[in-house]
Amino acid sequence: MQLNTKVRQLNRVGKTLEKRLSRLGIETVEDLLYYFPFRYEDYSKTVNIEDLKDGEQVTVKGKIELIANKRSPRKRKIITEAVVVDETDRIKVVWFGQPFITKNLRAGDTVYLSGKVNDSMFGMQMIGPAYEKEGKTGTTHTARIVPIYSLTSGITQKQIRFLMSQVIKMAEKLDDWLPDDILEQVDLVPLKDGIKGIHFPEDKIDLAQSEKRLKFDELFLLQLRAEILRQSIKKSQAPQIKFKELETKKFVDALPFTLTKAQKIATWEILQDLEKRTPMNRMLEGDVGAGKTVVSAIVMYNCILNDFQTAMMAPTEILAKQHFESLLNLFNDNLKIGLFTRTQKIINDKKASKKEFISLLESGDVDIVVGTHALLVDKVNFKDLGLVIVDEQHRFGVEQRKKIKEQSGNKKTTPHFLSMTATPIPRSFALTLYGDLDLSIINEMPKGRKPVKTRLVDPHNREKAYEFIKDQVKQGRQVFVVCPLIEEGQNVSTGLSEKKSVMAEYEKLSKQIFPDLEIAYLHGKMKADDKNKSMKKFSEGKIDILVSTSVIEVGVDVPNASVMMIEGAERFGLAQLHQFRGRVGRSSHQSYCFLFTDSDSEKAQKRLGYFESTNDGFKLAEYDLKLRGPGDVYGVAQSGMMNFRLATMRDVALIKMSRDIARGIDFKKYPSLKEKIADWEEKVHLE
Ligand code: ADP
Ligand code: MG
Repeated sequence: MQLNTKVRQLNRVGKTLEKRLSRLGIETVEDLLYYFPFRYEDYSKTVNIEDLKDGEQVTVKGKIELIANKRSPRKRKIITEAVVVDETDRIKVVWFGQPFITKNLRAGDTVYLSGKVNDSMFGMQMIGPAYEKEGKTGTTHTARIVPIYSLTSGITQKQIRFLMSQVIKMAEKLDDWLPDDILEQVDLVPLKDGIKGIHFPEDKIDLAQSEKRLKFDELFLLQLRAEILRQSIKKSQAPQIKFKELETKKFVDALPFTLTKAQKIATWEILQDLEKRTPMNRMLEGDVGAGKTVVSAIVMYNCILNDFQTAMMAPTEILAKQHFESLLNLFNDNLKIGLFTRTQKIINDKKASKKEFISLLESGDVDIVVGTHALLVDKVNFKDLGLVIVDEQHRFGVEQRKKIKEQSGNKKTTPHFLSMTATPIPRSFALTLYGDLDLSIINEMPKGRKPVKTRLVDPHNREKAYEFIKDQVKQGRQVFVVCPLIEEGQNVSTGLSEKKSVMAEYEKLSKQIFPDLEIAYLHGKMKADDKNKSMKKFSEGKIDILVSTSVIEVGVDVPNASVMMIEGAERFGLAQLHQFRGRVGRSSHQSYCFLFTDSDSEKAQKRLGYFESTNDGFKLAEYDLKLRGPGDVYGVAQSGMMNFRLATMRDVALIKMSRDIARGIDFKKYPSLKEKIADWEEKVHLE
């Protein structure tokens, strides 16, 4: 057997099982070794029968006194009954619908039984325990900490554990990619021990050490990839962008408002970075409505005055369109601003063909391009790209940055990079997550904003809330309705989907509650064109109420909207609710946020109560961080950790350790690290 031996070669793997394993991504012995359990049952405690207590999870070791199948009188199902004895007492054991058990277990056999004890009319018994005959090689399914794998139908826990026990010795053949001094520094066990211990831990300590080792592998790999990028950026030359004081002052003076102090500081920090010869790598963080767009406009303007182009990347078409329009507004047609998405190519007020657009971009006749990922296409090249701004940075990774550098039109330099996010991540935490970025925070709102009034609405006051909405619409305002979030697991069991949830709410509101109002909907399954149409009509004021999923979460700017109504509010994180709330209160109209929940759990009520009383995104995020942990607050995808099987954002100490070691690491000293990253990248590309 080798690490690359196909699973088909293993004992008791036929064509069917091979197919089912392949659905789990398991083709080879090595794949199996890296298929980690998602939880464990601790059956390591073997208990004397006389000491059994109702409800305990335990293992019993005893001799089978008798065992037989019988038919249940009513359901005509096979029941297997056995009596098992040890030195202290005897216990009844029952299995349902597994007649083959009497072929495996016979009277006289010594067995381990692991499962829950249950006190019945007939004394203590175990129903459907895992069982295993005493053997020479120790147990796999009982009398230990037993691994539980997530499986597709047609594979049983017993089967996969049996396979695992066949291949586990091959862990010895895995090359450890971590050098000894790092193992020592972090106090990690060798890879082979980590892999053995994650499947078949000797005890809790072994399990903890194995988890630590393998979590570190995941985190360290992520940090190393960021570090490679950081080092190559540091080495590369940046386009030099001089601060154009006069023009900048003129531009700022012409704005219809004065910049806040926080906006000025952030702008200054960015402009100073741009003057340096190493590329900027900075994140601009600011609560919804804090005014990041105008900051980005000032710095883009400086690039353009230095004869460089700039690109602004948005995660969705809707947001790209909105940025495009706000930039057109800010610059009053003085610049050439383009919109490049899959469905739309526009320059200022004229539609362009893809070909025209690409050639104007290449000749330097477009100053600013606002685009989605559609911009990262081979044939799209700039004349001389000086700055890339990414709105909501998590969707723009290492690969995308390499790509846009290749398109930048200048082989010798690397464009400056600025990412903007409205996610309120506390500074200390941002540094561990995005260790490679410098940070500017806009922690102050423009003056004169009326805080959004937030109310958690009692179910019996729902009618009143509807009346209130009618009144707002009568006054010319518009309304957002956000439908409850539906988790994937629930999709399967209830047949619900985001689309259905939106359509149901839309039907209810348009037919029963507000038959006289103009209502539209927006969900992820719609075609981009239809989404844009709905959004456009809403921003033009042709629609009173927009029913949608959380797609409106980021960025969308409709100043005339004054009510945000959120259904199933308890399902959202406070930071996310805050993003929704930020969709209103963007003008001088008093705005409102109504929360509805079916949950009367005290915890949910308290959380939402806190949300009602607090308008500060950072405070809300910190509150939720304490209560729910970072993964739930920021989402797994946002943290770049979605490929992890073990590590989570709760592993703060390990994250920090992996970052500290990766920072400034000398790759020449550790060739195995670079190899591992290359392997990893190849694998990701294949997928
Ligand atoms: P965000 O940080 O959420 O991207 P925006 O840049 O979209 O916020 O700004 C929200 C609104 O506030 C915009 O309509 C913008 O014109 C306005 N704005 C920005 N800065 C100021 C300011 N200093 N004073 C008043 N209004 C401002
Ligand atoms: Mg914005």
